[in-house]
Amino acid sequence: MQNPYEAEQIQDIVRDGLAQVLGTGADEVTPDATLVADLGAESLDLVEFRFEMETKLGVALPKSNVLDQLATVLGGSEQLYDERGGITELAAEVLRRSAFGYSAEQVHAGQRPYEVAAAATSAHWASFTHALFDHLPETCTECGADKAELAASGKAICAGCGAALEASTGDEVMAEGVRAALVAIGHAQPVG
Ligand SMILES: [Zn+2]
Repeated sequence: MQNPYEAEQIQDIVRDGLAQVLGTGADEVTPDATLVADLGAESLDLVEFRFEMETKLGVALPKSNVLDQLATVLGGSEQLYDERGGITELAAEVLRRSAFGYSAEQVHAGQRPYEVAAAATSAHWASFTHALFDHLPETCTECGADKAELAASGKAICAGCGAALEASTGDEVMAEGVRAALVAIGHAQPVG
């Protein structure tokens, strides 16, 4: 099934969700405002944001992060960090190829993991959340239709029978993205 959302629709939903969770005006949540430094988000706010997106969109945002997923795929974190604890070029490249859409200015080799986490903006979360809907089932499990549409509630439903559709989880999409990035970079992965 094709993604039934325009990128702008998800941007608005993510912006409003963040504004609500952070108790700030939606106009302050600009695409490039960093959640931690500019908007003062704390880890509990992000837990609440995840819950908001689950309620509004029916999606499960990731509980882990790209660096942890990369360590899992590579069977350890040796290749992720340099001797000073900054991320390696390999880790930075995998992050930039993720569905968050980090630029080379935002994420680069030598940054500490907390600096990577602090680089996240509303636009990054909108990009990732939108990408989750590229991972809807091929066809509806109820009626077999292959088209998705948006219900009045704003959630993605089957265009054939109106059944709720479940996208892949954020952790699944993130893990898949890490593997695809390693293949694209030409980095050898452990088999199995
Ligand atoms: Zn259906």
